[in-house]
Amino acid sequence: MGVLVLGTVTLDTVETPQNRVEDVLGGSGMYAAVAASFFDDTIRLVSVVGDDFPQNYTDILKQHGVDLEGLRRVENGKSFRWGGRYSKDFNVRDTLFTELNVVLDFHPILPESYKETQYIFLANDPPQLQLDIIEQSTNPKLIVCDTMDFWINEEREALDKTIEKVDILILNDSEARLLTGESNLIKAAHLILNNGPERVIIKKGEHGAISVTDSSFFSAPAYPLTDVADPTGAGDCFAGGFIGYLASVGDTSESTIRKAMIYGTVIASFNIEDFTINRHKTVTSDEIENRYQELKAIANF
Ligand code: AMP
Repeated sequence: MGVLVLGTVTLDTVETPQNRVEDVLGGSGMYAAVAASFFDDTIRLVSVVGDDFPQNYTDILKQHGVDLEGLRRVENGKSFRWGGRYSKDFNVRDTLFTELNVVLDFHPILPESYKETQYIFLANDPPQLQLDIIEQSTNPKLIVCDTMDFWINEEREALDKTIEKVDILILNDSEARLLTGESNLIKAAHLILNNGPERVIIKKGEHGAISVTDSSFFSAPAYPLTDVADPTGAGDCFAGGFIGYLASVGDTSESTIRKAMIYGTVIASFNIEDFTINRHKTVTSDEIENRYQELKAIANF
């Protein structure tokens, strides 16, 4: 079916209790596109980088089969840079810096070949860019959108307009509370449903994710990992795996959505095992299927 992903492609500096990496390949769009590529062969990325962006990083995306016609490279521009530091137990992440750089002047124009894509994932990016993509898409079947504290705080008005137009909003627990001012997550989800989306998925880190609609509730467990190297991008991988699976089966029924959440959880669990997308280089479809079955067994009672 194909998936269109809008999101950032960045140079990340990440500090964990054990390690520090500088200017590694990152970005919400990058993680989501690679995650989706495990399920669907046609992944179209819309993003922007500067001329400081290493060619070998672009090559990694190509190796995952990601279509880069929509990736703009700005001459004399600087790539988006982000830095984060994790607490000892990985439960708290402080953002050290967010340098938007080329993203500030980016006005995405969808390549002709992207316009009819039916499955659209708007990963973390300025909400105005998310709206631009919605407006240029001619045949959307499912629009899934992610956001984060940065955009809730900085671009609330544009974000509200985006949220009105999407089918599924994915965000994490603290972001759902920030967006609604409601501490109870179920109430927060229903407040969001009143503003447009027909489904809200709230990620709860090591406690899994919940999906809420007016008439359904589902709780997906997290994969029980013992060795965490770097959680950066886990949320984007969850969402990318989720929409990649949906596109691959071409269905958005409740039961397929639930399976997609489990496949998203599986891809996120691999991502956490190493920095950037290093672990994705070696993940096999057997490994994905094994973890899917393990999660199925965990949730069975
Ligand atoms: P996550 O761990 O799912 O929050 O995703 C982290 C990734 O998102 C990193 O690779 C960052 O470069 C990227 N990122 C951080 N802040 C932003 C932002 N404000 N907008 C878009 N992408 C971001």
